[in-house]
Amino acid sequence: KSTARFERRPDTGINFSDIAGVDEAKAEFEEIVSFLKEPEKYTVVGAKIPKGILLVGPPGTGKTLLAKAIANEADVPFFSVAGSEFVEMFIGIGAARVRDLFQKAAENAPCIVFIDEIDAVGRERGAGVGGGNDEREQTLNQLLTEMDGFKENKGVIVVGATNRVDILDAALLRPGRFDRQVTVNLPDRLGRISILKVHAKNKPLGEDVSLVQLANRTPGFSGADLANLLNEAAILATRYKKTTISKNEVNEAIDRVIGGIAGTPMEDS
Ligand code: ATP
Repeated sequence: KSTARFERRPDTGINFSDIAGVDEAKAEFEEIVSFLKEPEKYTVVGAKIPKGILLVGPPGTGKTLLAKAIANEADVPFFSVAGSEFVEMFIGIGAARVRDLFQKAAENAPCIVFIDEIDAVGRERGAGVGGGNDEREQTLNQLLTEMDGFKENKGVIVVGATNRVDILDAALLRPGRFDRQVTVNLPDRLGRISILKVHAKNKPLGEDVSLVQLANRTPGFSGADLANLLNEAAILATRYKKTTISKNEVNEAIDRVIGGIAGTPMEDS
């Protein structure tokens, strides 16, 4: 069967206000929303709307959130697929899936196509163990062909995400393909404060909890780690039959999340 398991979501439910601490990336993406909403504003002055944008950054920094937010804010369909879905054992299947995806996108333009872990399919050709991998190379070639095949300003914007831009095939980054790169870094202290604020919104925090202090204590945490931290604290509060989350639960949650980051299995209670 050649159909990829890509998802189509009419409404991702994510807004730019759900994403914090990545202001530059957000600004770039707000511009993409404006391309999608008012393409004439750009075409009248001869501007070409980018076809492909590559989001580069470590895991859990909000890359998927950003892609979902553009679709939602521009009110266009969101197609999402993991690069690994294209990597198949059998020759031709991956390429057929890529064709399929782009056909669906063209039928639903304007829309956003999100390819997570694009490195799974976009690794440099001929770089595999024991030389080339025919199936993967065919798939990558198909992706390049599809990106070349649709015209700018047709409203299909492909967003790729990776934390390994260094291993991508250079052909993917050429003009007319993923020619825009947006870097999303781990948040700094102020970024962590604003991310914590987003995720604390629906959580009753005790008076002894300071988000500023929490941000000071969590260098190296990604947005996903911070979200996870507050969620763990909320679960602990429930376990202790409390109606607010106090410093005690937050401290315990920090230890758990750090344990998780360090790759040690988390203990149950
Ligand atoms: P991966 O590379 O692992 O796919 P990603 O960069 O795509 O990671 P997301 O899936 O966007 O990361 O983030 C995971 C979760 O972490 C989000 O659903 C959100 O709860 C939280 N999160 C991550 N970054 C941010 C951020 N900048 N602001 C607010 N929440 C964030």
